[in-house]
Amino acid sequence: MKPDRPETKPPADAEARRAVAPVIVYPPETLPQPDLALYRKARAGADKVADIFVPPRDARAFEVPAGSFFRISSVEGPQVGDLNLWNAHDISERFFSGKTRALHGTHLSTGDRMWSSLPYLRPMATIIADTLDWYGFDEFGGSVHDVIGTRCDPYTNCLLTGDPYHHCCHSNLTRAVADKLGLPLKEAEFHVHDVLNVFMCTGFTRDTGQYFMKASPVRPGDFIEFFAEIDLLGALSACPGGDCSTGHSSDEAACYPLHVEVFTPPEGALAGWKSPKPNGYDRSHGR
Ligand SMILES: [Zn+2]
Repeated sequence: MKPDRPETKPPADAEARRAVAPVIVYPPETLPQPDLALYRKARAGADKVADIFVPPRDARAFEVPAGSFFRISSVEGPQVGDLNLWNAHDISERFFSGKTRALHGTHLSTGDRMWSSLPYLRPMATIIADTLDWYGFDEFGGSVHDVIGTRCDPYTNCLLTGDPYHHCCHSNLTRAVADKLGLPLKEAEFHVHDVLNVFMCTGFTRDTGQYFMKASPVRPGDFIEFFAEIDLLGALSACPGGDCSTGHSSDEAACYPLHVEVFTPPEGALAGWKSPKPNGYDRSHGR
């Protein structure tokens, strides 16, 4: 947070410096564009191949082959989910929340992509449907499906309250990855990373730039749907914050399950589409 009273006197041209107009760092039209029409046509003929129910205050891992789709749905009650993605064949390639934020903005919706970490930096998944896209940005600057939060975790909770709490999204995701890959918990947790906050409503306060959350507008029946650009391992935690209207990192909030469905289109439905290759940079770094 910035200090309320700065210690340094503003220069004579302070207002002129502040008045300089911003420029968009990464204009989205310069990115390779997904063929949403092709994806949606393929999705229309796709069959469901897997159902995963994520229990409240817990997480589950799931796999989605390249060229398939997965949908995350609200069921029973308002609930936010913390999503991690990895390359199913090499979990050193994982979702890069920070660069995705730089490329697409603070909150994701239809047409945006989840990009992978360096040195891979390629689309892992493309959002093809979002029933909360009507929300936009509210009067507080809040919106849905952010890539600005990290994930609730027991370390921050311990720092703030001293209490151990074992069902933060970080721990839920750690257990899910450990179970899926047969890893010890202490090894699995290094693979857990900053998330896409599915259905969560967040922003930064306009005056102080502080991270805030508010009750998610999600209702049962709402969903967000993704196209898998590469073979994916995913893990989704049903956050102990429930709709995140008050707090998290405790058992106090009402929590509900989340539903993940995987759909595979018929052969040939994606004619012309190719799974993206890792980034083209040669990694010579000037040597
Ligand atoms: Zn959480």
